[in-house]
Amino acid sequence: MNWQGRWVLQRMSILSTVALAVACSQQTSQERQADTTEKETTMGDKVVRDDAYWKQKLTPEQYHVLREKGTEPAGSGEYVNAKQSGTYTCAACGKALFSSDTKFDSGTGWPSFWQPAGEDCVRTEADNSLFSRRTEVLCDGCGSHLGHVFGDGPQPTGQRYCINSLSLKLAPKEDAP
Ligand SMILES: [Zn+2]
Repeated sequence: MNWQGRWVLQRMSILSTVALAVACSQQTSQERQADTTEKETTMGDKVVRDDAYWKQKLTPEQYHVLREKGTEPAGSGEYVNAKQSGTYTCAACGKALFSSDTKFDSGTGWPSFWQPAGEDCVRTEADNSLFSRRTEVLCDGCGSHLGHVFGDGPQPTGQRYCINSLSLKLAPKEDAP
C-alpha cells in the first residue's frame, strides 16, 4: 500500500470514530431526557417528585406550606390542641415524623414537639429569611417544609419543634384489645 492509501485509511478510521462518538452522545442525551420526564426519581432511599405531582396531590394550602415554605396562621391548624395518641406523619409522603408522646402545649398556636420520632425522620437547614436566624425543619423523606426548631423547649431535650398542622397527618394509635 502506498502512502496515499494509508492516509485515506487513517482518515476513514478517524471519521468513523467521530461518527461513533456522536452517535453515543445522542443516545445518552435521549436517555437523559427520558429520565427527567419521569414523575418520580429515586435518589438513594429518597423520593423526588416534581411540582405538578405535588400540586395534584396536595390542597393549595398544604402545597403552600409544604412546597413553598409557607406558614399557616397561628391557632388555625387542626392539630394545635390535639391530644389523641398516635404518630404524626408527613402530609406529603406519609413518613413517620413525630410521636404524640412528645407533643406539648407550647402556647404558640402551632403543634409543638420536643423530639422527632427517630433519627432519620427530619433534617434541618439554616433559614435566614424574614430578617431572623431560624432553623428550618424538613421531612427527610421528601424534603417538604414542616416548620422550625427552637432551643426553648421543655426537657429532656430542650428543643421545640414548631410544626404546621398542614404539614402533618395523624395516624391514630389502634386501641389495644
Ligand atoms: Zn415527606
